[in-house]
Amino acid sequence: MQRVWCQVVIDTAQELLKTALAVPLQEVKTRELSQQGIELWVRRDDLLDAELSGNKFYKLFFNLQSARTKGYTQLISFGGAYSNHLHALAAAANRYGLRALGVIRGERPVKLSPTLIDAEAWGMKLIFISRTEYDRKTQADWLSELQACYGVSYLIPEGGANLEGARGMQLLGQALELQMQGDYTAACIAVGTGTSLAGLAAGIDQQKAAIGFSVLKGEGSLGLDIASTYRQLSVTRSIAADNWRLISGFHAGGYAKKPSGELFEFWRRFERETAIRLDPVYTIKMFWGIHSLAQQGYWPRGSRLVAIHSGGLQGRRGFICP
Ligand SMILES: *Cc1c(COP(=O)(O)O)cnc(C)c1O
Repeated sequence: MQRVWCQVVIDTAQELLKTALAVPLQEVKTRELSQQGIELWVRRDDLLDAELSGNKFYKLFFNLQSARTKGYTQLISFGGAYSNHLHALAAAANRYGLRALGVIRGERPVKLSPTLIDAEAWGMKLIFISRTEYDRKTQADWLSELQACYGVSYLIPEGGANLEGARGMQLLGQALELQMQGDYTAACIAVGTGTSLAGLAAGIDQQKAAIGFSVLKGEGSLGLDIASTYRQLSVTRSIAADNWRLISGFHAGGYAKKPSGELFEFWRRFERETAIRLDPVYTIKMFWGIHSLAQQGYWPRGSRLVAIHSGGLQGRRGFICP
């Protein structure tokens, strides 16, 4: 399948919607799903662009727009050495002619991760800080100090987790709704910060469910964060009930843990049967969850599910893959 969008700058929400509508939906058939009479369609947002794939560009789009409108020339954000978010941010800043500063958790290693090598090549300035200091990344005084050192910047939270980020994913939800013409049961997505789930739920038809598979072991305030973002997006709509659900049983040990055992086996088999590559941190857990729930009879026979392939394939370079 071909990439959808390459190397041009998308300026308006209209153009982003047009691009999102061109993302292919691919039906995949696996043994478990066929046995249970369940249809699965994969929205191939991993094919969005060679450098800016998956949900991260949607989450960045309204941030980029807002930064440019307000006259910022530099973006700052935060993440780990394999962060899909920083990878996308570096690529986007490069494409949109903005400077980018990446604040990385942990000391600078002798050998940079492939993610950070790309980010530097796209011109991102990397700042490494200790894990203790990294914990201060949301404190106002610390952020002012950072900007005093490195220049006034448009701040994007870790993972692109803000309302602008959710608005981008809401647009993806609207595109999905138009593509499926309402003819599906539920839309599934992998959940880290939950920004994408909140946006997706707000973008699709309110009678349809958005189902998120958490990749984190401890959830903390995740549910509350999603509820709050969702409500902020939905203020202009009359909503009967929250149309999102968070499923927690498929984190397989927690964030960025090396897939092993049953999960690794699933990963290998899924890629062989469908020829769709998955990332080891997010999308494998969603697909594994969808399949496990199918075997448990969670989805009614005849369900038509749509799974968002949210990209993240650059992160495979830090893992042993099938
Ligand atoms: C970041 C990411 C997610 C999770 O997005 P959130 O909005 O943080 O929940 C899902 N899949 C992939 C591939 C990601 O990189």
